[in-house]
Amino acid sequence: MSEEARLTAVADGLFVWCPEGRGTWGLANCGLLVTEAQAVLVDTPYDLPRTRRLLAAAEPVLGPDRSIGTVLLTHSNGDHSYGLPALPGVEVIGTEAYLHALDHEPTPEQMHLLTRGGAPGEATGWYLAKHFGRYDFTGLEIVPPTRVFSGELDLDVDGTPVRLTQAGPAHTDGDLWVHLPEQGVVFAGDLVFAGDHPVHWAGPLASVIDGCERILGTGAEVIVPGHGPLLGPAGLRDYVDYLSWVAERCRVLRLGGIPAQDAALRLIDSGRYPELGLPERLAITVATEYRHLSGDQDTPDLVGLVGAAARIALARAEAAAAL
Ligand SMILES: [Zn+2]
Repeated sequence: MSEEARLTAVADGLFVWCPEGRGTWGLANCGLLVTEAQAVLVDTPYDLPRTRRLLAAAEPVLGPDRSIGTVLLTHSNGDHSYGLPALPGVEVIGTEAYLHALDHEPTPEQMHLLTRGGAPGEATGWYLAKHFGRYDFTGLEIVPPTRVFSGELDLDVDGTPVRLTQAGPAHTDGDLWVHLPEQGVVFAGDLVFAGDHPVHWAGPLASVIDGCERILGTGAEVIVPGHGPLLGPAGLRDYVDYLSWVAERCRVLRLGGIPAQDAALRLIDSGRYPELGLPERLAITVATEYRHLSGDQDTPDLVGLVGAAARIALARAEAAAAL
């Protein structure tokens, strides 16, 4: 699959790195703000080779006198932060909750082992190898933020205002989104996915919807999702409708005594949103929503949740192959 990416200007001095990669995991979008004397990166790619590719593409716009001095982390998932060791010495800004969310994240070493494939026919190993086997998880270490905040944080980057707003717990416990009001651009992190079904680990979906509504409330014309192509306000509104549909179906199906995994299958089998890839991710998002509906306070088992999605994906792949 192609994962071609290039640095594209969305406003004067503001760029997005938007890899093509519909139907797979981990190809995150990044942002780069370049001002007179500074440069700020929003998120990093998943591994060092991909991060170095982004940094090489940034060289012409940075020129000889500027380097990236600050990285803003939208959340704690590795596909937005594992590239940090390629940027030694930078200031790293995230939410206070990001630090706690790190406790639930798999380490690069664990990802390396998990994605080398499992036993033949074993769903989780097959799925992880299929979607994460392309990444190089060696030589990585988790770099925590050097500066954290709760609520909102306003930055002044050579006179360019940048507002960070905490949104978590939503996609993860430590989410934030980044608004550049003068450019009319928001980097939404994984509050927003485009092109594929989203996956939400922390929830509830009402919090994700609330974050999206607040983003719409900024009046931004360009919304950079965590994954997939850029959206305008209408596209984000459609995404909110999708989330509302999932939340409402979860509420009704749970009241009807339908277990979470069966509910996920019903949503997939409904055939709604056929244009979105990775329908099996509904297994994770529905399980997250069910956890909130039932008041379950336990820490979610992330690998177990991926296993549930993997079993659905494997069954669908086998059914498609049998046709
Ligand atoms: Zn992501």
